[in-house]
Amino acid sequence: MTAEATLESLASDFWKWRAWQQPRSHDDIPRLERPKEWIPNWSKENVSTYLSDLENFERRLNEIEITNPEHREILVDYKLLKSAFARVRWEIEYLEMWRRFPRFYIDQTIGVVFDYLLNPNVTRETVEHIQRNLNNFKTVLTHARQNLTGYAFHEHATVSIEDLGNIDSNMKEMGEALLEFISNEKQASFLSRVSEAAQELVDFREWLKLNLSSFVPASSIGEKSFVWFLQNVAYIPYTPSEMISIGEIEFDKATTFEAIFENKYKDKPIPHLPKNATEQSENESKLEQEVRDFYERENLLTQPESLGHYLNAPRPKYLEPIKWLGVTDDLTGPSRLDEDGISYVPVPRDGMPYFYAANARDPRAGIVHEGAHYQQLALSWRNPRFIRRHFYDSGVNEGIAFYNEELMLAAGLFIDAPHSQTLMYNFMKLRALRVIIDVSLATGRMSIDDAANYLSKKVPMDWQTAHEEAVFFASFPGQGLTYQIGKSQIINFMAEARRRNPSEFSLRKIHDYLWINGNVPISLLKWEYLKLPVDEIFPQDISHIKEIIWKNIRHMLDCYLAKDRKNADNHIAEDVTLWDSVEPQLIFGLRGLNALRDRRPSSENGPKVLSIENLNPVIDVIGEIAIARYELLIHFDGGIPDEHIRNTAVWRIINGAWKVIHNHEDVIS
Ligand SMILES: [Zn+2]
Repeated sequence: MTAEATLESLASDFWKWRAWQQPRSHDDIPRLERPKEWIPNWSKENVSTYLSDLENFERRLNEIEITNPEHREILVDYKLLKSAFARVRWEIEYLEMWRRFPRFYIDQTIGVVFDYLLNPNVTRETVEHIQRNLNNFKTVLTHARQNLTGYAFHEHATVSIEDLGNIDSNMKEMGEALLEFISNEKQASFLSRVSEAAQELVDFREWLKLNLSSFVPASSIGEKSFVWFLQNVAYIPYTPSEMISIGEIEFDKATTFEAIFENKYKDKPIPHLPKNATEQSENESKLEQEVRDFYERENLLTQPESLGHYLNAPRPKYLEPIKWLGVTDDLTGPSRLDEDGISYVPVPRDGMPYFYAANARDPRAGIVHEGAHYQQLALSWRNPRFIRRHFYDSGVNEGIAFYNEELMLAAGLFIDAPHSQTLMYNFMKLRALRVIIDVSLATGRMSIDDAANYLSKKVPMDWQTAHEEAVFFASFPGQGLTYQIGKSQIINFMAEARRRNPSEFSLRKIHDYLWINGNVPISLLKWEYLKLPVDEIFPQDISHIKEIIWKNIRHMLDCYLAKDRKNADNHIAEDVTLWDSVEPQLIFGLRGLNALRDRRPSSENGPKVLSIENLNPVIDVIGEIAIARYELLIHFDGGIPDEHIRNTAVWRIINGAWKVIHNHEDVIS
């Protein structure tokens, strides 16, 4: 089998497995088509089986050798799979979602029921799926109690208790609204099953209350683990500090532009709300076609005839009481390419939440984001490369949808709608803020309370809601940043493409490429599309950085042996500090180092060094800093015993090159 075929067969096995294993989440992008008999399984035994299965997949991937690095598409696919595997590790081992977050088990019970109800065609099969899962509540929640004991985060438990506050009446209402899909003789037993399952969640809520004081205070995932995520799952080429800066700059920009547009349109009347959800859906359907025509007319994005439509529909009664479980839309799936995507809308009324009101007045607000998700996913499910048809990280998906909002604003879609223009800047503000909150919570720069204070001041919003939002962000590190960071990466990619080849640059061509590859991290797309040098494909890969540093260390020793100070100094920062093993005082800068070298006895008088071995490296990379611990063994001529040295070196990336900024050396024997 060729490397490509082996890779595909591994991917196929993995995605089949993942459809069973992947936990349900509130997010609408990662929804998977599940096997017919699927139920979530999260006992401790399940978790350890998942990890050993994963090791197996990782071993198989490591055995695949891609001999021709010029096959960019294959290398990108390889990296995709690697990242998909890393995401499983991130969920289970780093975030420990299954034992830290009580909400995880709300998602694996009633959350699953919610997902099955999103497809607008409720059939007998839907009801079977729901019943099978209702029957599974008891098992899932038994495992939940075993897993959460001693590990659950206190703040998260508090919010889950609140989420479940009315779960019995929520589920009763849902059950009654579903009766029209159930034959008369089965209705009573269905309702009693719903009520038993609801009782399981009530018992779980009470258990959380009872054990609340024994749960541990929430802690952040930490800078080191978060950087691991950025480099191994999301392939984001920025450090946490760089991302916070991007968030701050974009937040200020959007705040200012929102004010400019508010001022410009202050005398324009706010458009009316539609009479009802049906009228809103009819408006939306017309506008969706207009947006599609706009893409074509402006030469921005190809709209294949076979691509379904993104429509609105009044929110069904059975979803109403459980709408808090996720996004009430149905973006279809790989086996439903001929179906339209649907977003359910509530009954328009004065005083409705901000986003819903905006969307009711101008449904294009939703079309340019959610509608972009639908189109991107439906196009990506048609990708000729099998591995790219699968979701695995929403960084690109959200990046594309958010980029599309500003693309359409700039291209003039909203020229007739002043308030929608202002709205786009408001959306930008919120997304920029999410980066700051997400990265700060993940790295421990902010606690949950800090984040709540920050949100309540900056948005502004009431503290209680801000606190719930903060807990929500803390449950999914790396998700809040996807919108802005994805968009910033896309803009960088586009600009680079235009700079390199202005005469060939085509918005339509690059957008078509982006949308059909909307599951592939942008750093990889940029590398593939711009045909960047092969050794630049993994510029942020930690193992690659470790290799570079270890090679630099070797090179410095070789320079030392060759008495080549100049080339050795290329690896040392101008303002380095050093603890030498014999000098008591700290050495400052390259100048201090050279003075020290001149003080040392020259090698003509001392013992002659035959060779130096560098051994046992332990190298950690944290953002733009790396710490290298290693040993040196110096072999002398003339039977003189070896010298054994320990080193701790701090490296930092300066103008694109890794350099030593501090070294501590100590001779053991
Ligand atoms: Zn989105």
